[in-house]
Amino acid sequence: GNTTCLTLESTDQLIIFDAGSGMRELGRYLMTREFAEGKGRAAIFFTHTHWDHIQGFPFFVPAFIPGNEFDVYHVHPYVPDVLNDQMDSRVFPAQFAALGATFRFHKMDVGETVSLGAFSISNIELQHPGKAYAYRVEKGEDVVVLATDGEYKRLDHPSLKRYIDFYRDADMLIFDAQFSVRESFIKEDWGHSSGLIGADIARAAKVKRLVLFHHDPTSTDDEIMAALQQTREYLTHHDRRGPVMVDVAREGWEVVFNSAGDFQVEEANVDGLICLHLFGQFDARATETFMRSIVRVGQAHQNETIVLNMAGLQEISVAGVRALLEARGDVYNLAIVNVPPNVYRVMELSGTVDFFAIYPGLSDVPH
Ligand SMILES: [Zn+2]
Ligand SMILES: [Zn+2]
Repeated sequence: GNTTCLTLESTDQLIIFDAGSGMRELGRYLMTREFAEGKGRAAIFFTHTHWDHIQGFPFFVPAFIPGNEFDVYHVHPYVPDVLNDQMDSRVFPAQFAALGATFRFHKMDVGETVSLGAFSISNIELQHPGKAYAYRVEKGEDVVVLATDGEYKRLDHPSLKRYIDFYRDADMLIFDAQFSVRESFIKEDWGHSSGLIGADIARAAKVKRLVLFHHDPTSTDDEIMAALQQTREYLTHHDRRGPVMVDVAREGWEVVFNSAGDFQVEEANVDGLICLHLFGQFDARATETFMRSIVRVGQAHQNETIVLNMAGLQEISVAGVRALLEARGDVYNLAIVNVPPNVYRVMELSGTVDFFAIYPGLSDVPH
């Protein structure tokens, strides 16, 4: 996969975090939008300037388009120099000074909070060679924390408290899980952490969803998925208050943050099954979003079973049931799992239960 480059977008703001090799792909995507016409605006925040966090920048096509504007936020004072130097004529054909887009640099203090539209972004120093900074982004009630390239050498509460306070109540904590716990003990001072340490910190900070990030470049997909399973297992063993959700970050992954109750669809491949996780209220306002997702996965996976995971659904209306019926025609085979009792009852009341292949859980779906 590519190295660190994440974006957070609202209706009026686009924030990019780091310029790793993933930024090349991001540029290709942004060139399908207003950035192609030189009408793009974005903020770029740097956690630090190690290679894996800057190397995509010279290949970020929107930077070459006159009219695009970028506000670059950084704590390390030397970020502008580093971006300039990695495009030096001895190593790259186009120089930073000749870029078509406009760049404005904003040096931030440690602990400073920056406001961008409805977002407020604060930072904290992480233990990492040359220092890295974690960012906490708040928008109304929603909180996302990006804490990559950080080591937690001392695991006693006083040492962790400042991190726990900074990550507190995050809807999502994106966490450096490059190592196994064992490796993190052995590779002291390498500046990285592990999923299980993230699990402890996430639990203490009452984080809702932990995302394992900054995978080791030598890890295979199987090893990364094993680390995910271990982290989940560790959390279910140790938490009786309702476990933190754990996910593994992957190339191109997109998550929608909405106010509670709003309908959401999230696509995932779970053990080889194509899944759509449904969240919120599945009513008349949700059917268009749902049908768009169904048609898209139906076309992308023409001879496969598509599983609808309803665990996150709060309610369904008759309009939602109607959309489910229609969905059967758009995919090869539709399976439904984890139906909440109130949702099942509406399917009973509408007399449609026998139209669907309903299974208790994902592992019950034949494949
Ligand atoms: Zn680093
Ligand atoms: Zn890194």
